Amino acid sequence: MGVRSNSGFYLSRKLVTFMVILLSALLLTVAVLGSFYARCGHTSPQQWENPGAARLVQQQQIQKEKHVVQNSVTRAPETWTGTKRPIWSWDNSRPPTTRFWNHLSQSTSGPLDHWRLFTSGPWGHISSSTSEPPSTLEPWDDLTLSTSEPQDYPTSSTLDSRDNLTLSTSEPQDHTTPSTLEPRDNLTLSTSQPQLYPISEPWNYPRLPSDLVPLHYDLELWPSLRPDRIEKSKEFFSGRLNLTVRCISPTSRVLLHSLRLSYESVKVLGPLPDGLREDGEQRPVGQVAVNRLWEVQEMEYVVLELMETLEPGRRYVLQFNYSGLVNQEDKAGLFINLYYDQKKYRALIASQMEPTYARAVFPSFDEPAMKATFSITLVHHPVYAAISNMPVIGKSEREDTDGSKWTVTSFETTPLMSTYLTAFAVCDYNFVNRTERGKEVRIWAQKDAIANGYADYALTIAGPIFSLLEDLLNSSYPLPKMELIGFPMFDHQAMENWGLIMFDDFMLLQKKNDYPERKNIILSTVAHEIAHQWFGNIVTMKWWNDIWLNEGFASYFELELSKRLDPQIMKDQFFYDNYMTHVLSEDTALHLRTVSTVVKNYTHINEIKALFDKYVYLKGACMVRMLSKFLGENLFISGLQSYFKTFAFSNTVQDDLWNQFQMVVDNQSEVVLPASIKSIMDGWTHQSGYPIITLDVSTGKITQEPFYLAEDTNQKTSTYNKIWTVPIHWTKNGIVQPVAWIENSSKVFPEMQLSDSEHDWVVLNLNASGYYRVNYDQLGWKKLSLLLQKDPKAITTTDRLKLFDDAFMLSWNNYIELETALELTKYLAKEDDISVWSTVLKNLVIKEFVFDMDNYDIYPLLKNYLLKRFTLVWNIYSSRIRENISAINNDNTILQPLKIAFERICWLGLEDCLQLSKEIFKEWMNHSDSIKDIMCFGVAMGSDKEWDFLLSVYEKSTDIEERFSLLYAMSCSKEPWILHRYLKYALSTSLFTDDEKYVFQIVGLSEIGRFVVKDFLIKNWQPVKERLGLDFFSTLVNIIARGISTDAEVQELQQFFGNMQEDIERTALFNQLERRKNKNLEKAKRISRIANWLKENMND
Ligand SMILES: [Zn+2]
Repeated sequence: MGVRSNSGFYLSRKLVTFMVILLSALLLTVAVLGSFYARCGHTSPQQWENPGAARLVQQQQIQKEKHVVQNSVTRAPETWTGTKRPIWSWDNSRPPTTRFWNHLSQSTSGPLDHWRLFTSGPWGHISSSTSEPPSTLEPWDDLTLSTSEPQDYPTSSTLDSRDNLTLSTSEPQDHTTPSTLEPRDNLTLSTSQPQLYPISEPWNYPRLPSDLVPLHYDLELWPSLRPDRIEKSKEFFSGRLNLTVRCISPTSRVLLHSLRLSYESVKVLGPLPDGLREDGEQRPVGQVAVNRLWEVQEMEYVVLELMETLEPGRRYVLQFNYSGLVNQEDKAGLFINLYYDQKKYRALIASQMEPTYARAVFPSFDEPAMKATFSITLVHHPVYAAISNMPVIGKSEREDTDGSKWTVTSFETTPLMSTYLTAFAVCDYNFVNRTERGKEVRIWAQKDAIANGYADYALTIAGPIFSLLEDLLNSSYPLPKMELIGFPMFDHQAMENWGLIMFDDFMLLQKKNDYPERKNIILSTVAHEIAHQWFGNIVTMKWWNDIWLNEGFASYFELELSKRLDPQIMKDQFFYDNYMTHVLSEDTALHLRTVSTVVKNYTHINEIKALFDKYVYLKGACMVRMLSKFLGENLFISGLQSYFKTFAFSNTVQDDLWNQFQMVVDNQSEVVLPASIKSIMDGWTHQSGYPIITLDVSTGKITQEPFYLAEDTNQKTSTYNKIWTVPIHWTKNGIVQPVAWIENSSKVFPEMQLSDSEHDWVVLNLNASGYYRVNYDQLGWKKLSLLLQKDPKAITTTDRLKLFDDAFMLSWNNYIELETALELTKYLAKEDDISVWSTVLKNLVIKEFVFDMDNYDIYPLLKNYLLKRFTLVWNIYSSRIRENISAINNDNTILQPLKIAFERICWLGLEDCLQLSKEIFKEWMNHSDSIKDIMCFGVAMGSDKEWDFLLSVYEKSTDIEERFSLLYAMSCSKEPWILHRYLKYALSTSLFTDDEKYVFQIVGLSEIGRFVVKDFLIKNWQPVKERLGLDFFSTLVNIIARGISTDAEVQELQQFFGNMQEDIERTALFNQLERRKNKNLEKAKRISRIANWLKENMND
């Protein structure tokens, strides 16, 4: 899934908009400051002798079975009553549609919520009478780990001995049928809850029992959407499912995942005959009577109680007629988009199943390891196209009871796949297409977008990316086609459904005069999702705890593939700047979060969704990259090829991956490792944080210790024993040395010892290959400082960049003196790489230092020190901008660091930077398409007339990005009364519905705005609280208290905010303000030290 909302890595709309407006903000800063300063995952439990062959046999068996089942089902009693649409028959208490889904977004975190969920259901009468968790629940919560899986799927544990946790491979309790469950005559379906059962019943357990495994889903969905009656027809769908299962152990209860589905009828057919009768005819299919069907809403199960016990080894078909809801708000399960295209109001229906929404669309074994094949049919209005994972095999017509005609589109049967990868779309779209290695690639989009060529770029890159991956992994893409589709509102950025990848339009379509970054976003997003067609779709993690096997690899390959397709787009420094540093900067040994987590039975979807964070995407990608660097490209690729060959169409745990790499390592002698792959890599994926490697160059002794942030100093005792096996790529005097390894807390490397000679130096962690930071003793740092002054190009750009990033991070967290980091900057007059400069400027030129800290003396010092060193790099890049700005715009390696540097250097008042800004600005003025880029400047320099104009544009705009640009631009006013009115509009009108908080945040971020927001809160606290909610309070405090550094200010703000708070909250407020003040005081000390150092070293 391209979902990175938690990590914030994928650029959100707001963030991208922010990037887009960065330059306009810069222009504003230039203008305003100019006037002031005239300056800006092996099969261990059940070892297959030959896993590949066993799986092949299994697949062949399933294919054979599927054929028989399909025939059997055709002959079976027809439960789908003609074309009659299922109706809402039993559940009159169903809440309105929008509230219907609310439980999906409830927040749960931590073990407390875990048991709360148990106690609140599945039965209403329990939740109302029980306030504490039953004691029998305790062992299940967090400690008992189950690796029970359907027997068709070999299992293995991701835990190793050091986890010291109880590992159980059995179900929690026997699933004995309670005596209260006597069959009741003639009762087939019931939604009433059964009587109280022991807590050990299978429906209380968050994982499906292993009694049955799915083989094949024959699914028909019928969304009632019609273009002539969108409003009336968009809210529900009906479904029909024939689900073939194999019985593994005798049971008279069937549990399936089901979320808010209403069942009209259910039948269990079977056991299915094995083979044909002697006369060649199919044997008749029996039927198992269903005593009762009931739902366990809290656990998202539907339970079928049968009159007979199913026999192990036999196959049965579960037949359901049911209906469900089309989600009107969240983009989950089947959801709707309403949009305008070709001057008409239109609607489409599509699906999002990951992680566990498939159960909201069809009753299913909705766990990633429960793979099956799918034959899908969509019934839809003839005007719409119907798309799914596989190609269309047939179309027919169906007449509804009201006489309306519908199209029935059927799709080919899928290979074995997980439920979360099924996909459906019913839409009034067009497509562009091409053929790649004989397979059709289509990009679907709104008709206007296709007509305007917006999908063309995605089409040019999608096919080649498939071919690259096939070649690289030596594994063919197994589906006959690939389709990519964009939606106006998707919420997930992108989703890798097999054969039908879905995107937010923003991540797929390139408009004319689009922001320069868009092309790169499309390339990396498309590459990421296509990489998932292998990492996730062909081979799937067994359980969500190993989701990094999907996301870490997709994130790594998004850049590797982008690089191969467009070599300019990625260099090592790009990976460091855009991936590694974002997670290195906050990953500490104190975190609980690790890349791969222990197997845990997530009860609530939010627990699973919370796993999709920067630790799986970014740290995951860093893990893959580190592995590839110490194995070398050839071994790395060989390991992956072996992995896909062995595990195609099945599921893995992390150990399966390590085993494949171990095999390729064992088969050669060139790369020698100090320990097994598992032993090396588990240390990185099972432990939080990372080490600091410190080299004493006088002795050659290297020590490792876990990294902590400065504020964690008092808490580190419990975790300081953490040890990693660290690969050290290093160079001595410019000659790259063999990889060194440190497996303990310290080790002496005589070869790293240095003499006093200035020619002797070492750099560790070349090209940021390893996920750690490097520290040196004083002499080591001094030698590097001198080396840079003498010959900066002696080490690579990435090494220089990392040197600064490590040095500043180590100094901010008290590992080295600030002055040591500053010493490195002396050579900068010779530095011509913009990414190195941007790292330095990010660390030194911080506007709050000047404005919020009343520390104006540092400004001229920074200006003098940095500007005279910036001349060389400025001359290079200002010329390039003047010659061909669009070439710069297309160079991803340069663009981001250039923006960072440009803004800060202009802020420091470099005259030519100001001049160049004016030139670019003038150019934009003559280019009507770029009008939005200058909006901020226009508002800042203008009056209410300009502001009102922007408001009128905002009101008419349907383009989300444009709307955010406009919202931001409106905050650029320098008139307090205009800003005050802006807040008033946000508070008391519907003009900015859903964006009110954003308005308060962006207004509060400017110097004038901070005071306006404060004044506004004094006068309007009650309505602000009502509209924005108390949870926004902490954000408001942070905005307003940004610059405080004295007790008097804390007191003033405590009084100010205290009046808005309850007593109990005042303590939290005081603590928040104190923390802010102390942080600012720390900053002030730092600024003072920087200022002193600058004074003393100004002319060096
Ligand atoms: Zn992904």
